[in-house]
Amino acid sequence: MLLDSFGRIATDLRVSLTDRCNLRCTYCMPEEGLQWLSKPELLTDEEIVRLVSIAVTDLGVTEVRFTGGEPLLRPGLASIVERCSALVPRPQLSLTTNGVGLARTADALRAAGLDRVNVSLDTLRPEVFRTLTRRDRLDDVVKGLSAAHASGLTPVKVNAVLIRGVNDGEAADLLGWALEHDYELRFIEQMPLDAQHGWQRGDMVTAAEILDRLSARFTLTPEVSSVRGSAPAERWLVDGGPSRVGVIASVTRPFCRVCDRTRLTADGQVRNCLFAREESDLRTALRSGAPDQDIAERWRAAMWGKNAGSGLDAPSFLQPRRPMSAIGG
Ligand code: SAM
Ligand code: SF4
Repeated sequence: MLLDSFGRIATDLRVSLTDRCNLRCTYCMPEEGLQWLSKPELLTDEEIVRLVSIAVTDLGVTEVRFTGGEPLLRPGLASIVERCSALVPRPQLSLTTNGVGLARTADALRAAGLDRVNVSLDTLRPEVFRTLTRRDRLDDVVKGLSAAHASGLTPVKVNAVLIRGVNDGEAADLLGWALEHDYELRFIEQMPLDAQHGWQRGDMVTAAEILDRLSARFTLTPEVSSVRGSAPAERWLVDGGPSRVGVIASVTRPFCRVCDRTRLTADGQVRNCLFAREESDLRTALRSGAPDQDIAERWRAAMWGKNAGSGLDAPSFLQPRRPMSAIGG
């Protein structure tokens, strides 16, 4: 298994399938995009499936989430999902996407074995969507969400990041809309992972503020079963339930102590933490013919070295070299 020196066991693997994206969210990447990984640097579909297979069969991973960049831009996605769903034991398979291409892919992904999706949507107002993502694609995302729900990729979760002065007035509207459509909404505190290094602690809309804003319209009761475990979202029942809302307070109430994640970048590097400044290269071993046991051993060693916490609270905190879009959020 993937044990670290603080006794945590990683069972949840995030796989970034590409660092490219068709949106340009201001809190994630600059308008001109980034220096994308080249084709030879990217893992092939076969290499991804082999690493997922090692994680599942040799290292105890039970959940696999595909992310990016925008994972729907990866041409082989459905085939990767299909091959991962044939692994024994079968892992839970989910996808984090901006939803732009989901209307045309949801059915095929469901048929390939995908279990659930998380769709990122920060606003319901077209002009704010344009400001936040620098693209005019709100309609596509809304259609993608309905398609995911209709395909049975449920529960459909919606991830929202609030930016002060841009969409922070929309928290309650987003929740009302999500409840109406049977989507489970989760707010994520903005983290210092943007490529432009523009994050400012003082500007961040905190979990406490988000809950205040929601409480002005809804009655929120902490969910009894949400004695957090390893789930990053703390959840509240809305107006007595059964609907819920989550808040992921990565900055103000970090969940590092119970973190169960391991990450694989699109170019085959293991990251033991979103905020890690070091990575362990599996691609070179993979391409030089290393057997599964050797790769598994490298992965174990990478996880053993995981830090106790993200270090976000320390004055000495340094942002990782890779931005969120290249790590896989
Ligand atoms: N493109 C896909 C998407 O947007 O869902 C997957 C990758 S994206 C990096 C994954 C998640 O990270 C999204 O929900 C996005 O809103 C979130 N994210 C990106 N930059 C962030 C930041 N600086 N702080 C908090 N969340 C961020
Ligand atoms: Fe793309 Fe997701 Fe980053 Fe937005 S948050 S720019 S959709 S990778």
